[in-house]
Amino acid sequence: MNKLDTALVTSALKEAGFTLTESVKEADVVLINTCSVREHAEQRVLSNLGHLKHIKKSQPDMVVGIIGCMAQRLGDKLLEHEAVNIVCGPTQIPQIARLITEALERNEKRLAVTEKIRKSSEDQNQALERFESAYGIEGKQIPSQAFVRAMRGCNNFCSYCIVPYVRGPEVCRPPEAIIEQIKKLAGQGVKQVTLLGQTVNSYKYKKDERTWSLADLLNAASDIEGIEWLRFVTSYPSEEFFDEIMQVMADSPKVCNYLHMPAQSGSDKILHAMNRNYNATWYLELLARARATVPGIAIAGDFIVGFPGESEDDFEATVELLKKTRYRNSFIFKYSPRPGTTADKRLQDTVPAEVKQKRIAELLAVQKKISDQLSRDFLDKEVKILVEGLSKKSHLNIVDSGNNPQLLGRTATDYIVIFNGPVSLAGQFAKVKIKKTSPLTLFGELT
Ligand code: SAM
Ligand code: SF4
Repeated sequence: MNKLDTALVTSALKEAGFTLTESVKEADVVLINTCSVREHAEQRVLSNLGHLKHIKKSQPDMVVGIIGCMAQRLGDKLLEHEAVNIVCGPTQIPQIARLITEALERNEKRLAVTEKIRKSSEDQNQALERFESAYGIEGKQIPSQAFVRAMRGCNNFCSYCIVPYVRGPEVCRPPEAIIEQIKKLAGQGVKQVTLLGQTVNSYKYKKDERTWSLADLLNAASDIEGIEWLRFVTSYPSEEFFDEIMQVMADSPKVCNYLHMPAQSGSDKILHAMNRNYNATWYLELLARARATVPGIAIAGDFIVGFPGESEDDFEATVELLKKTRYRNSFIFKYSPRPGTTADKRLQDTVPAEVKQKRIAELLAVQKKISDQLSRDFLDKEVKILVEGLSKKSHLNIVDSGNNPQLLGRTATDYIVIFNGPVSLAGQFAKVKIKKTSPLTLFGELT
């Protein structure tokens, strides 16, 4: 989500006449896109601001802007920071070019946050929609791939989560705007589109007596020439539209067989305290349904360990659930109290830091074992991948006899594949025979 916002802002600022530089020392304007989901992310921003304050001593005219969730959450408190000139929340982002221009011209501080974030106005929604439609057609961070937002905000109020308070209520974008955007991206050579939303599977839009679901969006996008792979993240475990979405995945060769649908915990007591509206048994049944409709589907999820009141037994239930999910990968976080959320207001952060650390390590070890087993199934098999470009660790790799560097691609089921090949393959599909595996990565040779 944040990567998409960064791409939209970059594209809007380019149109306004700004140019991008990677070096802070060269920059007239420094923008930091922030996340508030865990405290650690906010602390990193504050430490960056300390560094910028120092740089501003020799470059006093430099404008520093904070955008994203932390801007909305802290508002004027963040603006008080010596280094900060602009604070602009996610729902005010269409104003960003104007705010920067004003800050540069007048050397004044600028604040743009939405006061009543849970009451989104029609004007604000339209401004966000115009911004998204205008700048979302350049959203390619990786060759041939783009992210397209299906919905903004969230209405779920999981008790630990800050997102509903900083991104506002759920607003689904009109299907015609989404499809139009994907067509334009396809026209520019984009082959893979990932539809984004906090609970993207609950996408719903009423239009001319008809209600569009994510399944309808995927179907319509599958008809677009040039689009080869379609993905969507993140799904919330919910009955609504689930079977339809799985059916489109099974029927359309373009919809990748990958589902990111976090469980968060395996303990019914903790799931209830998290306000997740399901229990572990039902969650596992949902996964079984997904696997029955889409054989070979890869499923991934998230967990929070050390939620208030999580006992050893609760944690064991999470370990047991993970073993049964056979996730191909999971993202595991230590509970981080977020000010203003119900968990923070009503529950004590009871689990000591060292216990959270121990539990995260244990759960990661269980996941590693499952991932390792699943990866091994690929040995000596050929996989189709979309090549992203040079592997980040290419410096560790030996360039092969044909002078080909190490490249990285992904399968439709989101496995990372490392192989040697010509850089010209970036953005193209390729076939690779897997020769070696590790829990999260497959290594192979072009066939
Ligand atoms: N909307 C998605 C969903 O419901 O699964 C995910 C949104 S959230 C930005 C990404 C992940 O961060 C969540 O799945 C959860 O595991 C984790 N997370 C959210 N709030 C957290 C908190 N207060 N402490 C630790 N992890 C948190
Ligand atoms: Fe946060 Fe829950 Fe909404 Fe996901 S569904 S963004 S975890 S409130």
